[in-house]
Amino acid sequence: MPGGGCACARDNNSQRYKMPKEEDTTGSRFVPVEKTLLHTSDDKRQIAIDRCDSYTEAIRDYLDARDQIPCGLTMVEELAEGKARVLEALGGTEEQWGDWHWQMRHNITDVDVLGRIIDLTDEERAAIEGTEGTYRWGISPYYASLMDRTDPSCPVRLQAVPSGLEMTDATVETDPETVLYNSPAPLITRLYPDRLIINVTNACTMFCRHCLRRRHIAFENVVYAKSDVKLALQYVREHEEIRDVLITGGDAFCLSDDRLDWILGELDAIPHVEIKRLGTRTLAVQPLRVTKELCDMLAGHSPLYLNTQFNHPKEITVEAREAADMLTRAGVVLGNQAVLLRGINTDRHVMKKLMQDLLQIKVRPYYIFNCKKLEGIRHFRPSIEDGMNVMEYLRNYTSGLAVPTYICTLPNGRGKTPVMPTYLLNPNANGKARFRSWQGYIVDYDDEKWDPELGK
Ligand code: SF4
Repeated sequence: MPGGGCACARDNNSQRYKMPKEEDTTGSRFVPVEKTLLHTSDDKRQIAIDRCDSYTEAIRDYLDARDQIPCGLTMVEELAEGKARVLEALGGTEEQWGDWHWQMRHNITDVDVLGRIIDLTDEERAAIEGTEGTYRWGISPYYASLMDRTDPSCPVRLQAVPSGLEMTDATVETDPETVLYNSPAPLITRLYPDRLIINVTNACTMFCRHCLRRRHIAFENVVYAKSDVKLALQYVREHEEIRDVLITGGDAFCLSDDRLDWILGELDAIPHVEIKRLGTRTLAVQPLRVTKELCDMLAGHSPLYLNTQFNHPKEITVEAREAADMLTRAGVVLGNQAVLLRGINTDRHVMKKLMQDLLQIKVRPYYIFNCKKLEGIRHFRPSIEDGMNVMEYLRNYTSGLAVPTYICTLPNGRGKTPVMPTYLLNPNANGKARFRSWQGYIVDYDDEKWDPELGK
């Protein structure tokens, strides 16, 4: 049991392990012992109690803050009210709500409809008008139901409703053509030796205000021609070193089940493709897309991995949990790629709750991306120092499963680069490595200096 307690019982007096006896009359393989190392003396117990109390105190601020963070799994009544407002504004029925085709057809792109769902501020109305023709906007009915009616700083609203800051951002994009210089065949982006991306559509179920692929989104939804996908597949076939293919867009789940099934089947037939991955934000912004039919189809294409993008605990709803559950039962392995966004998740408590709630719905935190330098999204962009503070807090104050890798995507196609807090202060000086612990203690650690030739 790596890192955990051992199942063997220990004799506290002799300090030697007692081996289980086959003839144990209780039927248990283990011999009952009166004392184990865990039956400690009172003074040692008190030390342990004091130590544990200090652990509780170390996260007291989080425990106090946690219940104030909007969370989709507990805001059931508010979200039901939001859904009723959206259905009324769109003239839809409960039955239509669950139909993802209806959701796609009723993408909200009309300011008056949006104004019947939330109390739009003058600034928001001006921003919707001001960004028209420059940046596309559109919100899925489902995602609109998560928006706070009155609070413009609602984290869902900030990701969905245009901001005037998009038009006043004077950022000059430093890296606009990376994709073009890394596309050896139609629809392919290749930045690494053994894996690549096939971009199958530019369509999304909504248009996130922080989108890092804004240029790709354009103004019309396009599912790319089968003839181009065939050329992309041919490239994969001809390159035996490609063992991992990511199907994304836009959003891979904007494809029909049939088109997705065909692409996955073609990849299954290529012997050197070991795994397929899907890139979709629908779990967060349109989980109703995850149907039984889709899951039945995906179950036939194992091994299959899916990365999605939840950025705030409010996005983790009962519907999102059901979608994640259906996918995991179909054998799809789920991961999350959050984007670090100022005003949305740079608060360390919010990010910690997001990571912990993701684990509850069986989505493994995989990456946190630093927001790229793109025009129109500077107001979302935190500093790398902000990101490091969040990562240090996660690393120190929650379980490793809840700690993703923090990534800066370097310009000119230089790729995803991990950035982590440093705990090793001085590697192997005179047989000692010097560390700082998660609590800030400086600790020397006996490192290995053994020379196999000298035998010492
Ligand atoms: S779903 Fe992804 S690609 Fe589509 S708009 Fe949102 S961030 Fe961009």
